[in-house]
Amino acid sequence: MFCGKCGAAIEPGNQFCTRCGAPAAGGAPVGTAAASAAAPAPPAPVYSAPPAYVAQPPYGAPPYYAPPTSASHGTTMNVVGIVFVVLGIIAALVATGLSWEESYIWAAGVFLTATFLFVIAGVFFALARRR
Ligand SMILES: [Zn+2]
Repeated sequence: MFCGKCGAAIEPGNQFCTRCGAPAAGGAPVGTAAASAAAPAPPAPVYSAPPAYVAQPPYGAPPYYAPPTSASHGTTMNVVGIVFVVLGIIAALVATGLSWEESYIWAAGVFLTATFLFVIAGVFFALARRR
């Protein structure tokens, strides 16, 4: 007989081809292929769940200060700014009257005061707008 794989002559008593090692067609079934196919699949690895993630709070304590409501804060700052604007206008009017009375030194001081009041008012307006 001949090997079905490589065609070499196989002795009647041999179960395998002497050239390529393929099992002889007439020989006893070796069953290697069947055995390997029938081999039980390895058991699937048991999936071990990782430990549950414990969420930690980012901070233990909430912030101490509560941000003031922008409405009330801005309103307060605007009111203060308006008060300074009114004071500055009054100072400017007084300075104008003083200047007509030729009290130039006083007028200069009052004008400077009015300017200073306007600057303060602007600062308060800026604070009111920031928050
Ligand atoms: Zn062969």
